[in-house]
Amino acid sequence: MIYHELVIVGGGLAGLRAAIEAKKQGIDVAIVSQVWPGRSHSGAAQGGVNAALANHPESADDTWEKHAFDTVKGSDYLADQDAVVQMTKDAIPVIYELDHAGCPFSRFDDGRIAQRPFGGAGYPRTCYGADKTGHYMLHTMVEQAIEARVPMYVEWFVARLVVDDGVCRGVVAYDMVRGGFELFQAEAVVIATGGAGRVYSNSTNAIISTGYGMAMAYHAGVALKDLEFVQFHPTGLLTTNILMTEGARGEGGYLVNDLGERFMEKYAPTAMELAPRDITSRSIQTEINEGRGIGGKGYVHLDLRHLGAQKILEKLPGIRDLAIHFEGVDPIEEPIPIVPSQHYSMGGIDTDMDGRTTMPGLYAAGECACVSVHGANRLGGNSLLETVVFGRRAGAAAAQYIDGLDEFGRSAAVGEEALADVRDRVRSLANREGGEDPYAIRAAMASTMKEHFGVFREASVMQAGLETMMDLKARVTNVELRHAGGVFNLDMIRTFELEGMVDVALGIAAGALARTESRGSHARTDFPERDDANWLEHTLALYEPDGGPRLEAKAVGLGMFEPQERKY
Ligand SMILES: Cc1cc2nc3c(=O)[nH]c(=O)nc-3n(C[C@H](O)[C@H](O)[C@H](O)COP(=O)(O)OP(=O)(O)OC[C@H]3O[C@@H](n4cnc5c(N)ncnc54)[C@H](O)[C@@H]3O)c2cc1C
Repeated sequence: MIYHELVIVGGGLAGLRAAIEAKKQGIDVAIVSQVWPGRSHSGAAQGGVNAALANHPESADDTWEKHAFDTVKGSDYLADQDAVVQMTKDAIPVIYELDHAGCPFSRFDDGRIAQRPFGGAGYPRTCYGADKTGHYMLHTMVEQAIEARVPMYVEWFVARLVVDDGVCRGVVAYDMVRGGFELFQAEAVVIATGGAGRVYSNSTNAIISTGYGMAMAYHAGVALKDLEFVQFHPTGLLTTNILMTEGARGEGGYLVNDLGERFMEKYAPTAMELAPRDITSRSIQTEINEGRGIGGKGYVHLDLRHLGAQKILEKLPGIRDLAIHFEGVDPIEEPIPIVPSQHYSMGGIDTDMDGRTTMPGLYAAGECACVSVHGANRLGGNSLLETVVFGRRAGAAAAQYIDGLDEFGRSAAVGEEALADVRDRVRSLANREGGEDPYAIRAAMASTMKEHFGVFREASVMQAGLETMMDLKARVTNVELRHAGGVFNLDMIRTFELEGMVDVALGIAAGALARTESRGSHARTDFPERDDANWLEHTLALYEPDGGPRLEAKAVGLGMFEPQERKY
């Protein structure tokens, strides 16, 4: 048994920021992470992070209020406005805090932090470090956590929460390096496990972005919110779905169809290529569906050639490398073939502005959480921001909760039962013979989600997809573990993940089928209009072991911005 007052599951930006904050408040906190924190998906973020610093010559009168307005409009009015206000106000000090910690942001000639235009933003307000912003932020934060002497359990996979009498009291985790399961007792837990992109087969996300952390909370009885809102990024590489940052269009890149047209003119005549992602992805998909993809095929071009070699090498060097190595195309010489690709989970664990869930002792922050600041569609550059703003707040709130526990509220020795349970489960999986192949189920799930719950959605297609997902869920109960070894048993991890992924995917499917309107990323051909009278509300999904989720509605936090029609 291992004890820390606070256990943070996940070493991405949100988890690191939460840990640093709790440590500052004198809490005994540790990070438990499946990978070395510096390899978390946060490090793959390219384009930048938003804050109304007003450094760009064209953004002199930018303010946090304008950032808040763009975010709420971008969310199709589903974001909770108090949370958006908090985030956009905090954005400015948060960027300076990162800067002072040594994060190497790109600079203007006058030495101020550089900013570039991004989709759906009224001003150029996205701060960046070339096209490696997430990498720079993540490594800055890893250094800060090491300096603060936060213990890190690296290459430990958290398999289950320990819940005692309705209170979260720790986790059961698998030690990949030494083999075997261990109980972590704690006064509180923060889940910071990132997104669920890998439930789709066409995702820009890392292999470890499975949504398993969301599922752990869900299985323990905490609601997942707004799962049906899945962001498709307009520009993933054709063959691998690897991301080509929105920064490429921020720097002036064009989207072009087979006729050589900059087709965004038809869909967003003012914003053009810098319309928000939901609108841009739908525009690309429409061009493809109507036969104007390149050569009539299923992709269009992202053309950077007119930016010139110098700008590409200076501002987008990583994009060029990725395009050369994974698509065989040098953007200085040729246009890049791209397709809309699953990119971000707007939904997640239902929390308040301090990362609190409905379960005492359980907090969540970052992409696995739904505060909600992104509503039905996230603006580019707002997610890196969310991780640090709400990671900090969750760490502070958990620390305060722990400080407030009297000696009777503190952890009794609990969790042995959960540990024994997990061990039994693994044993029975390993002993089963002739069971289902978990990899085949996973592949079927990911392609079902891609084909049935993509950019455009329609009832009969979704209904068929939901039925397939229910069959897959039934098959998951009969999977067989092929490898029973103790050390680095990735077969076992993938099997655990699969159980969680299928439930998260079913939550997406059920929410999407139920929501009979189009809002943000959720675009229904059979209900093309937004329906504020009936649907200006969050969806809560509650776990039911034997089927799809139970859905409930939750009110949206409205505020300073009245819902209007979205035009760009
Ligand atoms: C390619 C790409 C580019 C992006 N670019 C941008 C951008 O330019 N701007 C922007 O704002 N946003 C961007 N985003 C989104 C943004 O990067 C992410 O939403 C954000 O970094 C998520 O951070 P996180 O801390 O929540 O999770 P992550 O960084 O994903 O970290 C998750 C952590 O949880 C751990 N973990 C997960 N499950 C377990 C488990 N069961 N047990 C133990 N540990 C576990 C992992 O080891 C990891 O440390 C991008 C995303 C992608 C995929």
